[in-house]
Amino acid sequence: MKKWPIGVFASVDAGLGVKLEVVEELKIPTIHLHAPHQNTRTPEVAKEFAAKLSEIGTQISVVFGGFEGESYADIPTVTKTVGLVPPETRAERTREMLEIADFARLLGVDVVALHLGFVPHEKSDPMYADIVAVTRQICDHCGSNDQRLHLETGQETAEALLQFIAEVDRDNLFINFDPANMILYGSGQPIEALRKVGRFVRSVHCKDAKWAANPGKEWGAEVPVGQGDVNFEQFLATLKDIGYDGPLTIEREIPQDPARQKAEISQAVDVLTRLKSKLQIG
Ligand code: MG
Repeated sequence: MKKWPIGVFASVDAGLGVKLEVVEELKIPTIHLHAPHQNTRTPEVAKEFAAKLSEIGTQISVVFGGFEGESYADIPTVTKTVGLVPPETRAERTREMLEIADFARLLGVDVVALHLGFVPHEKSDPMYADIVAVTRQICDHCGSNDQRLHLETGQETAEALLQFIAEVDRDNLFINFDPANMILYGSGQPIEALRKVGRFVRSVHCKDAKWAANPGKEWGAEVPVGQGDVNFEQFLATLKDIGYDGPLTIEREIPQDPARQKAEISQAVDVLTRLKSKLQIG
């Protein structure tokens, strides 16, 4: 495959990604797949699904875990509901994540990823050690499947993320870098953060956003690629500098408006194609 193939975040029956019909229509060669619901994560479904993807000519580069009850309504809700951080659901979601890794393996996919949630910023917080432990458990399970685990960026500053990765200390733990999340959560300038964590970046989301008036307290606003504060030309130039050569996976989370979602993804493909050629990539 060429360097930096353009992909999209897609979903089948769960999650916010775009539907496979759009992947087919726009002839997108590579996707991140939001893990389907538990009852459809079976060998039979994996086989059917792999056949469908090969028919439409697309490959999955990453399977993303996601869980019932997660909500991205605002920052406090994310803290309470997302990922492996909320203690009430941690054991069950960890178990589910291992199952998602096994489903990804059935699909022949060697990367799984997730939003861990808001990891406590202080190492002295007792929850910090617990989250390090479950992350190790998932990394080790992925390792036994010959898979890597990618952590979605956004909730942490670059420094906090580097410290967390060092603490987990597993050689199959990497980063899915989402520049828009840095802005949405108010956790740092995305380009600067990308330079800091670049050596761990093995997949990316091409998503754009505008800063909130009070970053970190209020949400920023997600907008179409090229219309926000990320600066995609700089983002791509920085990816080039750090030697990134994986897909550019477009993420646009407006499933309530599929027509607009499709149109904006198609425009994002154009924006990225133009920038790739400007930077002489591909
Ligand atoms: Mg993302």
